[in-house]
Parts: sequence; C-alpha cells; structure tokens
Amino acid sequence: MSEPSRKRELGRGERVLPGVWRLRLPLPWPGVPHCNAWAVAAGDGIVLFDTGMHEPGSFAHLERALAQVNLRVENVKLLVCTHAHSDHYGQAATILERTGCELWMHPDHEHMTRAAQDPDAAMERRVEIARMSGVPEAPLRAYQEARKGQGFGIAGIVEPDRDLLPGVEVETDLGTFEVVETPGHAPSHVCLYQRERRILISGDHLLGRVSLYYDYGHTPDPVGEFLESLGRVEDLDMRLCLAGHGRTFTDIQAHITANRVLVAERLEACLTVVRDHGPITAFAAVPLVYGDAITADNANWWLSETLCYLTHLEATGRLERVAAEPGDVAERWVSAA
Ligand SMILES: [Zn+2]
Ligand SMILES: [Zn+2]
Repeated sequence: MSEPSRKRELGRGERVLPGVWRLRLPLPWPGVPHCNAWAVAAGDGIVLFDTGMHEPGSFAHLERALAQVNLRVENVKLLVCTHAHSDHYGQAATILERTGCELWMHPDHEHMTRAAQDPDAAMERRVEIARMSGVPEAPLRAYQEARKGQGFGIAGIVEPDRDLLPGVEVETDLGTFEVVETPGHAPSHVCLYQRERRILISGDHLLGRVSLYYDYGHTPDPVGEFLESLGRVEDLDMRLCLAGHGRTFTDIQAHITANRVLVAERLEACLTVVRDHGPITAFAAVPLVYGDAITADNANWWLSETLCYLTHLEATGRLERVAAEPGDVAERWVSAA
C-alpha cells in the first residue's frame, strides 16, 4: 500500500508590479502552507526581501520561483530580512554564500541566532517556561522528545552586515525604502516603506488574514510593543501592502483595525477567564481563552500567545502573577487587587 502523501506546494514566482515579484515558497507547517519573499528590481539586479525557510530541498523552490520570473539567485545584490524567523531568514546563509551579497537585518535578532547557537539551552528554557506555566510533565516530555534533533529551519547563523534601523535606506528602482521598527511579532521585526509609491513590505506585522503571534520571553511586553507598532505603521500613507504570507492587499487601515479588535478580544477573554477561574495557570487558561482544546499542533503557539496577553495585563496593572506554592512549580494568575 502506498503512503498517503500530503500534497506539497512548489515555489512559484509572479510579477505583481513592474519591478516587483512575489516569490511564493512552501512551508511544512500545518495551516501555514507558504510564505513570501519579495524581489524588487535594483539596477542590474534585485534586492531580495526575506528568504523562505531552510529545509531539505527548499533552495530549489526559491530558484524555481525566481526562474519563473526570469531571475536567478545570482541577481540578488542585497538581502533584507524583515525579521529573524526561519520562514523569513532561514535561507539567508545559503543566499549569502551563493551571491556574496550583504545581509541587512535588525540587530535584535538574538531570539533566533542565540537560540540556534545553543539549541540545548534554548530547549531547556522553553521547557522551564512551559513548566512554570502549568504544563504537566507527560506532554512536556513528549514534546521534548518530538523536538529532539529538529533544527531551527535555518541554513546557518549569519549576522547582519548592516543593522536595519530607522534612517537606513534601501535603494531600489522603485525608489528608497525606509525602515520602520515594528517589534511585537518578533523583537527583530521591521517593515520597509516606500513613501512616494505608498508601498509597505510588512513581513508578519500585517498579514492579509489576521493571525497573531508573538515571541515570548525576549522582551518585557510583546503585546504592548505590537500595539505600539500598529500605531507606527498607521501613521504612514499607504496604498499597497506586500505581506510575508498570502496575497497583496490594499485596505490597510481595515487590517490594522482588525488586528486591534482581535487583540482586545483576546485580552478581554484572558481577564474574564482569570476573574472567573483564578488563581489559574496559563496552561489551564488556554482552552478557556480560545474555547478549544489544546492539541500538539496548537499548544506551543497558543501557550506563548496567552503568556504574552497575561504579561501585558500584568504590565498594565490588571492582573497579578502569584508565585508557585511549595512543592509546585507553576505560577498562577489572579485579578489585580
Ligand atoms: Zn514571523
Ligand atoms: Zn512568517
């Protein structure tokens, strides 16, 4: 009997504007079938924004997508990463090796690069956070076992040749892209803004389909940072968004509003759950906040998202964290007195 094989996508390239190409690259993640890299004409080559994830065979997908729009990896004159997640930075090492071009990225990339340098320490830290959040030992051990030997989805650790900070300008045939710092989704996140053409390369800060994710444990309040970053891009005059996943979109204000509404709903849900069930661990709160059971697929994402909301509500004085009782390791959450 043949194995039921999951249909995998191939890398695909398409022109979205004169001098702008969308490179749609497959991902192995449930619910997130692909990500985008954006190629923008620059002189006799291109600036490549983001890279796709590194896994066996992944570079061929990038090459295939480029070939479909008559480009080659050798055309890349500069690599710009919106943030250091594997689907946006994973193939950076290979691209640099192949082209000798520079990498520009925000300096707060340790959430990826330090973890990749010391995977055991990163895993230990992750397990410790999970334990303190109330995750029981059995699923925690199963998770640890399942993750063993799994990489970070990056071809190698490469540091930026230039720090992508406000004031840095990325020159293309479309004009200059400015750097807008947008931490929240990841500490290293930036958007790139082309003022005259009102184009935003938004990475994962704004997506066509609203989907929230924050890196927990690297900065004091990722949700607060994300909300501030939404305000920062809202101040820009934009007509077209080139996002890290999915199609381009134009109703940018509606997307910003939809993000705010969803964050507010989740914060409200956390407040209600803690008020009605506190003292409660983050792990016990997750199914109540989302109204759905925890599974192996969603556990990681939902737990870190919930921890980010609880931390934000603590930072804004609405919830309090109660230290673990003797003989227990889990913190619990209660309404602020
Ligand atoms: Zn990301
Ligand atoms: Zn992404």
